[in-house]
Amino acid sequence: MTSQKRASSDGSSTSSPRISVRVDHGRCIASGRCVRVLPEVFFQTEEGFASAKERPAPQCYERVRSAADECPASAIIIGEE
Ligand code: SF4
Repeated sequence: MTSQKRASSDGSSTSSPRISVRVDHGRCIASGRCVRVLPEVFFQTEEGFASAKERPAPQCYERVRSAADECPASAIIIGEE
């Protein structure tokens, strides 16, 4: 049996696919919710919209998914690699 684990860029290994995250500014209503709940990943632009670090740390994945689920505008888009 082969292992599904692979090394990440920080030297750790993970069995989960890496994720990328971005905010669709055409949908974001600038509620600031994601910035408040996960400031390690999301930040507010000068225009008030949220943006995200494209590649969050693996320890943030669960909270990134929760932020996407709870976004009132469904503006948080998660990609898996
Ligand atoms: S929670 Fe959604 S709508 Fe609110 S700032 Fe974040 S991306 Fe924008």
